[in-house]
Amino acid sequence: MLEVRNIQTCYGNIQALKNVSLTINEGEIVTLIGANGAGKSTTLMSICGVISPRQGEILFRGEPIHRLNAEKIVSLGICQVPEGRHIFPQMSVLENLEMGAFLRKDKGGIKSDIEHAFERFPILGRRRHQAGGTLSGGEQQMLAISRALLSRPSLLLLDEPSLGLAPLIIKQIFEIIRKINAESNTTVFLVEQNANQALKIAHRGYVMENGVITLEDRAENLLSNEDVKKAYLGM
Ligand code: ATP
Repeated sequence: MLEVRNIQTCYGNIQALKNVSLTINEGEIVTLIGANGAGKSTTLMSICGVISPRQGEILFRGEPIHRLNAEKIVSLGICQVPEGRHIFPQMSVLENLEMGAFLRKDKGGIKSDIEHAFERFPILGRRRHQAGGTLSGGEQQMLAISRALLSRPSLLLLDEPSLGLAPLIIKQIFEIIRKINAESNTTVFLVEQNANQALKIAHRGYVMENGVITLEDRAENLLSNEDVKKAYLGM
């Protein structure tokens, strides 16, 4: 579904990604794990068109997307949930969700998708008229994921959904991500520092260090890999 081929992405003179290649197959949850500053967010932002790679290619369903702008990439069915959620704090929960559907015209479909979001996260339904900024961190993450789903993506990119959340909430969020993948056939690319939780729900994973992919394998193999255990699972 998505093929990242030898991309190099830079911030001025700083080369954040050095020949990064990865593949995401339809229906998978693929996770990218690594330490702070490894280049995980840069990889995700290169895919969704926030930054352009200086070299290399990104193909979505065989078509190059690395020169397209972010809006065009959303219209192809790729949507990101950015690190730190970035919901609109002054807007209500409902208005935030409506913003997620900004490229759609099917009013009936949007309405039923919003109702589906409220079924998935009942707390959002109860707070539909409350300003987004007044929600807890976990609720804002639920809102950010739901807002992204309103664009009906076939590929959902999630940047550190567990960041700053309590362990119980993290478990809930990961379970929801697993369900979204299983029930709606949404392919997921999950960037995470919480390697343990991410590998538990993923099919495959990549490990990144200093802008380079150093390891790739099935998630269960990475969970039992001695180097991964030492470096990322605290064992
Ligand atoms: P984190 O988990 O902290 O988000 P990460 O693995 O996602 O880390 P990136 O945010 O992709 O890592 O950063 C990769 C490298 O690029 C780091 O060295 C970082 O300092 C640098 N970098 C990231 N954003 C910028 C920027 N806007 N300007 C300059 N350098 C940047």
